[in-house]
Amino acid sequence: MSVLIKGGLVVTASDSTVADVFVDDERISLIGEDLDVQADKVIDAAGKYVLPGCIDPHTHLDMPFGGTVTIDDVESGQTSAAFGGTTCHVDFCIQGKGQTFAQALDDWRAKANGRQMIDMGYHMAVTDLAEGGTLEELASLPEQGVTSYKLFMAYKGALMVDDETLFRTMEVAAKTGALVMVHAENGDVVDILVREALEAGHTEPLYHALTRPPEAEGEATNRAIQLAHLAGAPLYVVHVTCKEAVDPIAAARANGWDVWGETCTQYFFTSLDDISKPNFEGAKYVFSPPVRDKSNWDVLWNAVRTDALSAISTDHCAFSFEGQKSLGKDDFSKIPNGGPGIEDRLRMIHEFGVRAGRISLNRMVELLATNPAKLFGLYPRKGTIAVGSDADLVVFDPNKQVTLSVQSSHSKVDYNLYEGTQVTGSPEVVLLRGHVLVENDELVASPGIGQYVARARYGEELKPVRTSVA
Ligand SMILES: [Zn+2]
Repeated sequence: MSVLIKGGLVVTASDSTVADVFVDDERISLIGEDLDVQADKVIDAAGKYVLPGCIDPHTHLDMPFGGTVTIDDVESGQTSAAFGGTTCHVDFCIQGKGQTFAQALDDWRAKANGRQMIDMGYHMAVTDLAEGGTLEELASLPEQGVTSYKLFMAYKGALMVDDETLFRTMEVAAKTGALVMVHAENGDVVDILVREALEAGHTEPLYHALTRPPEAEGEATNRAIQLAHLAGAPLYVVHVTCKEAVDPIAAARANGWDVWGETCTQYFFTSLDDISKPNFEGAKYVFSPPVRDKSNWDVLWNAVRTDALSAISTDHCAFSFEGQKSLGKDDFSKIPNGGPGIEDRLRMIHEFGVRAGRISLNRMVELLATNPAKLFGLYPRKGTIAVGSDADLVVFDPNKQVTLSVQSSHSKVDYNLYEGTQVTGSPEVVLLRGHVLVENDELVASPGIGQYVARARYGEELKPVRTSVA
């Protein structure tokens, strides 16, 4: 099928130009003024933006965690993503204890097969390395397009790894061209603070935040940076929330070290005030790292403006308030950690980043699409609007007024972090490889349209030809 998108403001990380975009056989084949071509479908984009489909480098769909499973499976989570203008994401495949990486990938692909609404890849979350086994297997993952290794420095007794596993993984990454990702909080210290709080009788959600202080995030961030530098591996620090973690990342980048940082939508908008809400409502804001003091909002906006932080993800890890968050009604440490947001990122960052004058439209595209594509081996096939690239495109109406709400969202979760927030600007048509996913708030595509994408190694390009594996 061919599609002609006429007269929109075509926005990339570097330019904004009024042009037509012609899509043929799933890819962008022409960009120019007043293109004289016939197409099966014509979209009038006058007065609209044409953006690259957003890429979410940090999500958790259908993930067992904290005695339950995230409420969004691949189909519901990716549908929600599509409505929000996200056409590709990289989810975390979590290695179970004692599992090989091959077994873990089989498990996670089985959850996705036939249900995919958008394109996707996997990061491998390393939890267990054994000599003569998974340590060697780790090196072979990039050959399968799994080109990033994630390590949790928190969640003691569950996902947390020690510094030996962390450092060994970094040494492997230095050889294989994978990018090392860390959840940076000092899990040993957090574990002590949690036990002390519970012993003192503190059970309410606020103590989730108070037992995971900014210093624990800053220390782990700095430790990961120093160890990655020693191992010679590139490092990407996920979900950075505070000055204590931004500062060491900014310093490493100023030194020319291969270090990158990400934050998530929710950290610009939520704070200790939210997690302090009465009647257990604070549990909606229990995720890790936790909400911080509001003074960090400006720190984060400055960081994404100056490229101390280079990407904004959602860390969508949704648990319903009723029946899931309630597992921790009498003990904050039993509240499943995670929040929703896969659908809200583009609208929120456009409203409070671009419209509020904090970042440019081009920088928004860079943070939500181009940088995630470059860092995770998807560029230039994805993350930009260029001849030959996948026709993953969002026709965005900058004047449409929308109120964000659980009722209008397409996730299965029963609350919205931004409930009642009014924004101006919303996706109108969302295309995945030229196929219409969403048009005028209606889902058009069916499950199975999304594909697994074998990603390129860190620093290498994913050529804009179709090389995807079913
Ligand atoms: Zn996460």
